[in-house]
Amino acid sequence: DEVRQQRTQRLESLGQLAGGVAHDFNNLLAVILNYAEFIVEDGAGTPFAEDAKQILRAGQRGSDLTHQLLAFARREVIRPVPLDVNRVIAEVEQMLTRSIGEHIELSTTLADGLPSVVADPGQLEQVLVNLAVNARDAMPEGGRLTVDTGTVTVDDEHSMTRDGFKPGLYVRLRVSDTGTGMPRDVQDKAFEPFFTTKPSGAGTGLGLATVYGIVVQAGGTVRLYSEPGLGTTITILLPATDAEPLTAGGSPCADLPGGA
Ligand code: ADP
Repeated sequence: DEVRQQRTQRLESLGQLAGGVAHDFNNLLAVILNYAEFIVEDGAGTPFAEDAKQILRAGQRGSDLTHQLLAFARREVIRPVPLDVNRVIAEVEQMLTRSIGEHIELSTTLADGLPSVVADPGQLEQVLVNLAVNARDAMPEGGRLTVDTGTVTVDDEHSMTRDGFKPGLYVRLRVSDTGTGMPRDVQDKAFEPFFTTKPSGAGTGLGLATVYGIVVQAGGTVRLYSEPGLGTTITILLPATDAEPLTAGGSPCADLPGGA
């Protein structure tokens, strides 16, 4: 438990640091992007406009990355509520399909009568998005991304009780891909903040650290199973609750009137 606490604290201070830097950097980036846009407009038809477009593209990528950093740092403003995990998946499914691209097939298998979990809906969406983006990056030639839900009863004898995990009923959220998989040394470091094997600019190394932080904060656990050449499965367990799930109207991420 102490190890878990230390790890969470370390993630929190890293998050604050990263958030501060990302915020200032994003402001500077906005200025750069602004000027690059001027050059594109004023220099239309000249070679400068093409160069400025490259600046815009790279800057936009930088801006996406700083937003990821900010999302990582923003974990303190969470509002955990009883949630139906299936519903959260259904709400982001379209967005996931769009972000993984047409070469990857998304299939979801959602268990009937799934109990609620207590979590922040925005954070749960972020978990799904981060895992889907990693799966996409692991399948450049295409493949299948599978998201499924279910329940798991953790009893005293269960090996999961090892890390101070309470026995009880858990909701299981599993995300698997048919991608490259990870060699042992990558698996060992995958959850460390800023660990990435992606080319510089493509990854922050915060995706799985964020997932870990969110899940552990919600009283859950994350397991990684990966076979090089075959694919990766991330299994998340979140404590089940008897509470009725909040409907879409109460979710900060689904605040469109009537949900339409
Ligand atoms: P990032 O995606 O920015 O690199 P993450 O923390 O999400 O940061 O992932 C860390 C590393 O773990 C990745 O760079 C990659 O090497 C590995 N990884 C994560 N998810 C997968 C996956 N689904 N398949 C293969 N490797 C993965």
